[in-house]
This record gives sequence, structure tokens and C-alpha cells, in this order.
Amino acid sequence: MLNLESNIKYIKGVGEKRAELFYKLGIFDVDSLIHFFPRKYEDWTDTRLVKDTADGENAVIKATMITPVKESLIRRGLTLYKCKFSDGEQIINVTIFNNKYLAKSLRVYEDYVLFGKIERNFTSASMSSPKIETIDKGVYIHPIYSSTDKLTSTAIAKIVKTALDSLDTIPETLSDDIKIKYDLISLDRAIRQIHFPANDQEAAQARKRLIFEELLTLQLGLLKLKGNKMKETSLVIKNDFTKEFLSMLPYRLTGAQSRAVAQCVSDMQGKYPMSRLLQGDVGSGKTAVAAALIYTVIKNGYQCALMAPTEILASQHFNSISKAMRDTGINIRLLTGSVKASDKKQIKRELIEGKIDLLIGTHAIIQNDVEFNNLGLVITDEQHRFGVKQRASLANKGNGIHTLVMSATPIPRTLGLILYGDLDISILDELPPGRQVIRTDVVNSSYNKRIYKFIKDAVARGEQCYIICPMVEENEELADIKSAQQFAEELSQGDFKGYNLGLLHGKMKPKEKENVMKSFSNGDVQILVATTVVEVGVDVPNATIMVIENAERFGLSQLHQLRGRIGRGDKKSYCILVSDSESEVSVNRLMIMKKYSDGFKISDEDLKARGPGDFFGERQHGLPKLKIADMLEDMEILSLAQQCADEILKDDYNLDKEKNKHLCNSITRMFRDIEY
Ligand code: ADP
Ligand code: MG
Repeated sequence: MLNLESNIKYIKGVGEKRAELFYKLGIFDVDSLIHFFPRKYEDWTDTRLVKDTADGENAVIKATMITPVKESLIRRGLTLYKCKFSDGEQIINVTIFNNKYLAKSLRVYEDYVLFGKIERNFTSASMSSPKIETIDKGVYIHPIYSSTDKLTSTAIAKIVKTALDSLDTIPETLSDDIKIKYDLISLDRAIRQIHFPANDQEAAQARKRLIFEELLTLQLGLLKLKGNKMKETSLVIKNDFTKEFLSMLPYRLTGAQSRAVAQCVSDMQGKYPMSRLLQGDVGSGKTAVAAALIYTVIKNGYQCALMAPTEILASQHFNSISKAMRDTGINIRLLTGSVKASDKKQIKRELIEGKIDLLIGTHAIIQNDVEFNNLGLVITDEQHRFGVKQRASLANKGNGIHTLVMSATPIPRTLGLILYGDLDISILDELPPGRQVIRTDVVNSSYNKRIYKFIKDAVARGEQCYIICPMVEENEELADIKSAQQFAEELSQGDFKGYNLGLLHGKMKPKEKENVMKSFSNGDVQILVATTVVEVGVDVPNATIMVIENAERFGLSQLHQLRGRIGRGDKKSYCILVSDSESEVSVNRLMIMKKYSDGFKISDEDLKARGPGDFFGERQHGLPKLKIADMLEDMEILSLAQQCADEILKDDYNLDKEKNKHLCNSITRMFRDIEY
């Protein structure tokens, strides 16, 4: 008798040698074997007569073997076996290549099922290398596993079957309550049915149960990792001052912005700290939402912190928020890595004393020695750049601090829900009025002269332009790639002689960057040659053209972020993707940019093309690998699993009740290899 811990080599038909092959697939014991799920199925139950098939179709034919196998050696290493079958009406010529084992096992006048591609003409039918099984064994839905050369899917299926047949009932991992409430079958049934479903419905039931459990485990693990949303807070925001602030803005909020503000205020008026994600495409106006909340929290007597991923963005926030709040008496300071030591000291002192109301900065503001007097709200902008850990360390600067995470990265909805599973979500799905759709074109460098002329015309109208290059320094291997620096020099001596060009790249000192950005902001610099440092958040509404060189080098989501830098004012804007790539795949990817302007749509396409693991580097986010759930397809089950996770934690936060023991173990197993 086997149990779940039995080593794979003890299963009948495995042995030492084959066990090695299983080890390579990451399968060591019976438990991991039965959790090695099929990729897909072949339905062998739909048997047909040859006359009911079409030429070239994959079909299952019930047939009797009517001639013995004839063997012929084509050349060394290639043996051909031929024989004839009959389905009662028609003869099928079967050829088998090299599979001596199969050929020798066939018996004349026995009944078989043949699975494979059928080739027909008026007089005859033939099948080349079909899969063949005896009629009593073959007519069922066959599981297809990821296999290796030496370990075929058929062999794996056989061994899984043997293992399942000699296993007792597989111990249940979910409580009856959960199974009933979410309409799930038992683990024992699910495992048996996922490998050998009697019909589609059984396969679907099994998938639902297993996906649910996997996503539930993931969700519970993430919630526990991210800590305590359940603690009550004493930082209650009694009065809502957002209306007062909004009346000072030169525009009216969009419906989506107003809803987000209201949701956040209502969160902060509740018993528990706010823990919310504000997700909005580039240009949807997240800053205004943040500012309204900041204003309200400060007016209620607490301090606020706003953290941005780059110095450019931090100082831009500092400038725009200072401007919006200039007559309010609110004391705002900027803390970044390049602030002078003496100023830093002063800022830190005034923070503890409570003289500073709002601190804006880069990750410099989460350093241990930065202490607040009574921090009430922490907002992090462009969250995907910060790890889960950094987010936590900022929220730990006080008790029950309200947190808002703002993200423009169009994370696919599913992945977002998983990554931010502990957050409530507000979505800005509406752009401020008057925005124009950005026209996007994909061209090669033979268009350069026309592009430059186009830029000059725009500059003549008083508009500005970005030219984006992939990297800064000359790189030997990528000799054909233009470096921003070299490119800027070429342009300023050549096509754009006499124009005011600026250069911005990541290797410049923060002060230099800031100066260039300032000159671009106030219109002195007409054309900004830059690397992706402008990707995040930069807001210069007068810029209407963005040319992206070697566009194939960028990810789609990154291109979308970059493109979001233009089209921010009321003037028609143009994005020109330049690529000399000859790869169809690359060019096709760029066409997605031309077709779609919705960031979510683009990231979904990106995800489809690249797979979730690749999305922003699995490592970076440390999500465990999933065995059966699919981030794109299983959205519905995900939201059920999330609901269930909440219920479980409410009832048993530490998961130490007996009924949750199994889940607790699964979490440990799933997150064992993940580093945060
Ligand atoms: P993002 O969501 O990308 O951070 P921003 O907050 O930078 O967007 O806003 C983009 C631009 O839109 C800014 O220039 C801002 O002043 C402007 N804006 C924001 N909300 C509105 C609104 N409701 N009506 C008009 N303009 C707005
Ligand atoms: Mg922004």
C-alpha cells in the first residue's frame, strides 16, 4: 500500500531508473505525483466511423485489426510497421514508426481504438503513427501531461493511475463549511477526476476545487505576509475637508476621482486603518485625489507622507502640491537623497516636533531615523517600484496609519488583485475632460527626416517634444543602439542646430536632472532627449510629441507609461515608435500600442504574450509558482477565494484552529522558497 509520502520509486512500474526521470520533473513522492496535473485531455470516448470523419481530422476510430503486422527496415534506425484495420465498413491502413513495443503487442482480430489524424481519399483511409489501445482499456478521456523524451505522457498516465488505485482516500484539506458554501467537491474526488475525468463536467468540477484551493492558499499566505489589516486604529478622521480643498483647484474632479476621494474618506472615518490601492491609468489625475486626502488629514491634526520612486517625481509632486496649497499655511518639505545633510537634520527635527505637516520624498523618508510626531496618512505613488516590504516599513512608522497606494502601472486586473490582495481598490477609469487620443505610429528610421520636420513644426507652434532612447552609455554589444548622450550631441550639431535641446538620463546627478526638468517644464528646453527616467509621472502638458527610438527594446507597459507623458494638455499629441527590427513578433507587439490606448488592455495583451511569470520579473514580486490556476482565466474563482480567505482570517487569524491545520501547512509549503 502506498501513502502520500512514499517515494515515487516504490510505485509499481517505476523503479530506480524511471524515478530519476520523475525527479527531473520535480516529482519525488506520491503526493507530488498526484499534484502533477494534466495540461490538457484527449477525449477518446467520441468514437466514430471513418466515413463520418473529414480528411486531415483528428479522430478516434473503433476498429478490428485484420492483417498481421509487416515489418520493414527503411534504413538503420528506422523501422516501419504496417497493418490493416477495419471499422466494419472501411479499411484503414496503419503505419507505425519505430515503436517495436506497440507493434509486437497488437493481435489480429482484436478490437482496438485508434487515436490520431486520419487521411482519406475516395478509396482508402490511413493513419500514420496513431495512438492505439485495446477497446476495453482505451475508451476514456486521456490526460496529457508535460512529458520529456524518455518519459512519455502515456507512461506518466499509467503510473498516476497505478498510484491512485493503490491509495486510500486522500486526506481532505478544506473544512466542510467551505466546501458546502463554495460548492466544492472533496480533494479525493478532485484529484482522481482531474487525472481521469469521466466527462467534461467532472474535469471542470475538479479544476474548480483545485484552483480554488490554490488561490485560497496563495491569498491567505499573502494576507499573512502583509500583516495586520485587522487592527483597529485611533486615527479617526472626524471632519471631511475635501470639498474645501477641491474648491481651490482650477478644475472640477471627474466622477471617478470624486468617487475615489469619497471611498478613501469613508475608509479613514472607519474603525480600521485605510488600506487602499488607487489604480488609474496615466493622466487620470491621481495626484489631485491624493492632495485632497492629504489636506483633509492635515486639517484633522495629523501629519502626512508622500513617497515617490524617483527624485524627479518627488520634486514634481512637491512643486504641484505646494502650489495647490500655497495659501493654506500648510508646511510642506521635500526630503530626497540629495538634500544637504544640514537641511536633512533640520527636517528630521521639525518632523518629530510636528512642525512639518507634509513630507514628500523618495525612499529616503522610510529610513529608520526619520520619525514623525503623529503620522496619519502615508501615500506611495507608483507603487510597483516599491516592494511589499517597503510599503510595510512606512506604515510601521506609527500605529494604525492609513495607507494609500497609487499605481499607474496597468497591472492586469487579476494580477493586481493577487499582488494587492490585502487592499481595497479604487479605480480611476475616466480621464479628465478634453483629453485627446494620442495618435501612435510605428515607423522605421527611413522616416527620420520626416519626423524631424514634424518636430520642428511643433516647436514652431510653441510645443515641446521628447525623444526617448533606451540607454545612456555606448555599449559594445549593442553598437546599433543609440545612446541618449551621443544621440543628443548628434542632433544638436545636425538636424536641430540652433534649437534648445536638453539631455536627461539616469546617471546624471539629481540636481542636474532637476535643473533639466525645470527648464523643460518652463519651456526653455524645446526638445528633451531622455532615457526612461521620464517614464514615471512626469507632467509637462505642453509636450505633444514623443519619439521613441529602438522601440522594440521596451516592454509594452513601459511604452504605455512613456506615452502617457504626452497628451496631457488639450493639444493633439503624437507618439512615434521607431524600430528597424526585422522580427515580425517585435513589430506586431508595437502594433498593439498603435491599436490600444487603454493601459489595462495593453497590459493584458502583454501578459498574454509573455505569461504572468515574466510580467515584471517573478523574482521581484516573489509570487509563488502556481500549478493549476491561471492569472488571466480564473478571475471568478479568485474573487471567491479572496472572500473565503477573509472569512477564515476573521474567524481564526493565526490559523491555529484544528480545521485550518491543513491550510496552514499548505501555505508554508507554497511560500517555502519565496523571499520577500
Ligand atoms: P496621474 O494619474 O498620471 O498621476 P496626474 O495626477 O499627474 O495624473 O494628472 C494629470 C494632469 O491632469 C495634471 O496636469 C492635472 O493637473 C490634470 N488633472 C487632474 N484632474 C483633472 C480634472 N478633473 N480636470 C482637468 N484636469 C485634471
Ligand atoms: Mg502620477
